[in-house]
Amino acid sequence: RAKDMGSNNFQFYTREMNESVEEKLVLLEGLRNAVDEQQFRLLYQPKVDLRSGLIFGVEALIRWHHPEHGMISPLRFIGLAEESGLIVPIGEWVLRTACRQNMAWRAAGLPPISMSVNVSPRQFQEMRLVERVAQALADSALPAGALELEVTESLIMRDLAQSVGKMRELKAMGVSLSIDDFGTGYSSLSALKSFPISTLKIDKSFVSELADNPDDQAIAMAVISLAHKLNLRVIAEGVETEQQCRFLRENDCDEMQGYLFSRPLPPGEVEALLLAQDARCHLAAGDTEKFH
Ligand code: C2E
Ligand code: MG
Ligand code: MG
Ligand code: MG
Repeated sequence: RAKDMGSNNFQFYTREMNESVEEKLVLLEGLRNAVDEQQFRLLYQPKVDLRSGLIFGVEALIRWHHPEHGMISPLRFIGLAEESGLIVPIGEWVLRTACRQNMAWRAAGLPPISMSVNVSPRQFQEMRLVERVAQALADSALPAGALELEVTESLIMRDLAQSVGKMRELKAMGVSLSIDDFGTGYSSLSALKSFPISTLKIDKSFVSELADNPDDQAIAMAVISLAHKLNLRVIAEGVETEQQCRFLRENDCDEMQGYLFSRPLPPGEVEALLLAQDARCHLAAGDTEKFH
């Protein structure tokens, strides 16, 4: 390793490596106090029912507003947060903030929706996860049925027995579970059968070329049919075009999420969408009472 060769071997690092190591250190340093400094925000991306066209839930997606580096994508820092263990306090902040936000919408009389929170492997494996979830629900007064955790196949497969045990505990509390990025990881179909989940989420890599790639069409159709045979719901992520949406609807996909309907939004904009949707529902039902 270059480090062991003394400082005159500094050139051993390529410019790229050097930058990325430095960058990593800067990010890591920043991550350490980003929770305390309140530099994280959550955006919420609507999930839409493909039959009714209504928003039934949102997914919380973290954003980091770094004082010098500006907005940093979770794709750049979640991995580092995982490696360093900082994902545990960060994830706890996400969970608590998302639960509180969903409860605030309910308390304001908006149509009740579910809140999905991404949970990464280290966070899921953490001893007190179930306790932390229970505490976030208790502190926010959000009903457990209004919370969903998105986990990945690779997370579950790391320690199948322990993961399924935790998933069962969460399910017993009333919390729903979904498998995120389905199809990109490895899980045997027999293992899938034993997961106490309610939804499979088709990864956006299979959705992006859905309109004209027969392989992706076959994969999407297979996942939809597999989900339904296992009595699960199925949602497609990353839906950007009408054609993708039509294909999914025609092939019996239940739900979708993507820029076609909405980008991840700050809370106020979600609220506006929910209000507009509520008004439309009352109008559709001939319920004009509300507007007198
Ligand atoms: P994910 O959970 O699979 O989330 C979907 C990602 O796709 C999000 O990226 C979302 O903004 C993006 N997206 C949504 N609709 C579209 C679309 O129509 N087209 C395209 N091209 N992209 C779309 P984002 O917000 O950058 O998050 C990336 C990943 O970072 C997430 O993937 C998730 O794995 C992770 N992540 C985000 N927030 C959290 C968090 O609070 N905790 C943890 N542990 N991970 C998080
Ligand atoms: Mg997700
Ligand atoms: Mg996903
Ligand atoms: Mg994904």
